[in-house]
Amino acid sequence: MGSDQLPERLDVVAVAPHPDDLEILCGGTLAKLVKQGYKVGIFDLTSGEPTPRGTLATRKKEAEEARRILGVQVRVNVELPNRVLMDGPEARFALATQFRRYRPGIVIVAGGRTPAASPDHLQGQLIGEAARFYSQLTKWDERFDGTSPYRVPHLVYIPYPFDAETRHWHSQFVVDISDTIDQKIAAVRAYESQFDTARFQKVEHLIRSTNGFHGARCGYMFGELFALPTPIGAVDLVQVVHGSKGSLAPVQLPGKDHPPMG
Ligand SMILES: [Zn+2]
Repeated sequence: MGSDQLPERLDVVAVAPHPDDLEILCGGTLAKLVKQGYKVGIFDLTSGEPTPRGTLATRKKEAEEARRILGVQVRVNVELPNRVLMDGPEARFALATQFRRYRPGIVIVAGGRTPAASPDHLQGQLIGEAARFYSQLTKWDERFDGTSPYRVPHLVYIPYPFDAETRHWHSQFVVDISDTIDQKIAAVRAYESQFDTARFQKVEHLIRSTNGFHGARCGYMFGELFALPTPIGAVDLVQVVHGSKGSLAPVQLPGKDHPPMG
């Protein structure tokens, strides 16, 4: 496949097993990235079906409606099997092929265990990490639909909220989603086959309380918590410590004009 046949590059791609996972986890940030001018993709590893009230056709329609509400430009279904999603070579090849096609600058992977929910979630993390590594490998193009090697520069985790392990991950940071929380809630509401009125009330409560908690820790109304696989590098201590309030201008530190203690 020549590069002239490839789709336009994406700035940020988010990966999770089921259509609705990423809306619940980081829909506010995805909508915000679009508002900030970035090209964003959602890669669902599976159709998310079967489920008790869903069908393939309705889930697909709901996912498209959620994409439209968030303003995300691209939504790809990797078409791996729901419920029995397992990390393995074929799953890695399938996702890495999409990374090679869309060449994202940042990949966000839903991370962590959900011991009381779908085991697909942890497998999705493993597939995401491995596919990001595989994407750059040479001499294997035939395993990736003839696409050329592409190295994804950055990996970011969006942790599942109930996972006790991810709470201790280092390099956590919170994105202010105060101005996109309503878009996020509306995108989740699009999944009517998954959330009837009673279930939607529960998930909305979960989102508002979790994002309210994480946001409040950083001085925002609502925030989404992310983590990096590495420490956060800094060339400017002041920017990291104080610049999170939105200003990129040189920071006037509180107390700077105070007379020296005499
Ligand atoms: Zn899920």
